[in-house]
Amino acid sequence: MKIAQFHTAFEAIAPASIAWKGDNIGLLIGRPERAITNVLVALDLTEAVIADAVRKRANLIITHHPAVFHPLKNITPSSSAGTLALEAIERNIAVYAAHTNLDSVRWGVNFSLASVLGLQNVRILSPIDGSLTNITVFVPAAHTDAVADAMHSAGAGMFEKYDTCSFRSDGTGTFRGNSGASPFIGTVGNVERVQEVRLEMLCAQWKVKSVLSAMLKAHPYEEVAYTVTPISNRNTEYGLGAIGELPAAMGQQAFLTMVKERLQTPAVRYSGHSRTIRRVAVCGGSGSEFIRDAAAQGADAMVTADCKYHTFQEHEQSLLLVDAGHYETEVVVLPALADVVRSILKTGRHTGKVFITKTRTNPVHIF
Ligand SMILES: [Zn+2]
Repeated sequence: MKIAQFHTAFEAIAPASIAWKGDNIGLLIGRPERAITNVLVALDLTEAVIADAVRKRANLIITHHPAVFHPLKNITPSSSAGTLALEAIERNIAVYAAHTNLDSVRWGVNFSLASVLGLQNVRILSPIDGSLTNITVFVPAAHTDAVADAMHSAGAGMFEKYDTCSFRSDGTGTFRGNSGASPFIGTVGNVERVQEVRLEMLCAQWKVKSVLSAMLKAHPYEEVAYTVTPISNRNTEYGLGAIGELPAAMGQQAFLTMVKERLQTPAVRYSGHSRTIRRVAVCGGSGSEFIRDAAAQGADAMVTADCKYHTFQEHEQSLLLVDAGHYETEVVVLPALADVVRSILKTGRHTGKVFITKTRTNPVHIF
């Protein structure tokens, strides 16, 4: 499988459109047409990770944190990003980043963190706004199922735990084909009245193009009447942070101990207090901006990282705020990321292996 094919398949399930606008994701170093050998996944690109890839004969490294983020004026050893880029290029290793798009999918950073902490009934904490559209198309009654099936197969009409969702209402369509037209029903020059179905379904913005193309292919009319309307409903399929419940309530001390054990960290920082913890919000990495969402949704505790002194202070009264470390709250995604990469390679009948680096790339040490 070529890197470009992997890229297309990966973005179909972790779309670039759900990433933060200023993010730098996708192929950062390397040639898209190069065939993949083995793959190494890591949280960060470091010299040790590149050395690990060389040992594992992997010519593609997928990291969560983009190896190149700020514009580089040169690719020389004068900066750490330049040094790493040079090293990767000299070793013939491509580097790919799955950053905030990986944060925002249901199998990504936050759902992995929720799963490691044993949360159940996990939902997105802060769903993405403004990423949904409503597609309406008018279909002659006998062709409704065929058109709907084509649209569903291209990804329209999916809503949380449901798929093939649509609404159909009957009506009468009118049209007159003028000279040069070849109408599917009726004859040129006559006004036709046809029993049609108004077929509607929700669709994520980044799927609209492929859904419309599937719809037009399945639709019998020469000129198809349809509308695509942006809607402001929240897209609960994608978003940042996650919230769920522990299988049984636990005390604060037991909860903090559990977090330390599961995230394999000798210490956590925390503020506030909750005598009983049942509902827990998480946001891997820097999640301070979602603490209010967590409190508003009744979380007894929130596990995140990079909390400032005043953030601890501000939320002291509302919940138990736990800073468990940026690396520790994100590295938990690597097994899920490796699984997704494996399944993409498998669909492409690729026989290469996918490794999770054992190199600890955390620049922060706790003494
Ligand atoms: Zn991060």
